[in-house]
Amino acid sequence: MKEEIYTIPVMDGFMAETECPFCAMYRKLESDSINFVLSPSYMEEDVRGETNEKGFCKIHLKQLYDKGNALGLALMMHSHLKHRIDGLNQVLAQADSGKVQKGLFAKKVPEGSNPLADTRKKWNDSCYICDRIQQSFSRYLSTFFHMWKKQADFRKTVEESKGYCLDHFLMLYDHAADYLKGDDLTTFRAMLKAQQQEHLTRMADELEWFTLKFDYRYQDKPWKNSKDALPRTILKVNGQFAEKEKNS
Ligand SMILES: [Zn+2]
Ligand SMILES: [Zn+2]
Repeated sequence: MKEEIYTIPVMDGFMAETECPFCAMYRKLESDSINFVLSPSYMEEDVRGETNEKGFCKIHLKQLYDKGNALGLALMMHSHLKHRIDGLNQVLAQADSGKVQKGLFAKKVPEGSNPLADTRKKWNDSCYICDRIQQSFSRYLSTFFHMWKKQADFRKTVEESKGYCLDHFLMLYDHAADYLKGDDLTTFRAMLKAQQQEHLTRMADELEWFTLKFDYRYQDKPWKNSKDALPRTILKVNGQFAEKEKNS
């Protein structure tokens, strides 16, 4: 069963006790990918070819930079920059001549295509790390549903968790139909919806209590669960960890 190798990271996501287990899984994949790209195994030729072509999005390039491995990143960026210079020359030649060079032959740029706009879109949407995360993340999703179907103890863990960020809640609600059928699907969606509503209300109450604590009349009242309600709400609403991960 190929899903079995992914049960541990999925379980770890639920054990992380955050406002979204899938954000926890995503963050772990992200930090593993950042470390991988800056590791010696990255020097392998096939990976270098891929990062040359795809490059990195703004978020991940900043994360790579913040790791402080200036030489590793400089070598990678040098190789990527040279690749982009070639690409830029090609696209400028296409835009200026209206022709695409294919080997020895030059063909007209197809009607309706715009090499400049197409290249901007391609380069802006392209990130080696985003793609690498996405590959594993989609396997985690199928593993999640597989575990939910087959393992009673995992089902209990899921039901007792604190819900999800808005994006991952919608992802689960939507993709449930790809993995579950009939009663399984109905049961899962009903559970998910009730759980999410309960925890969104809890989050709103905790954040409200946090704001009330700034009022002198509440100063001496206990914090309850609200001390970190703001970063937890940011995760719940936007899927973003506002605070840096420990040990990263
Ligand atoms: Zn999330
Ligand atoms: Zn990225």
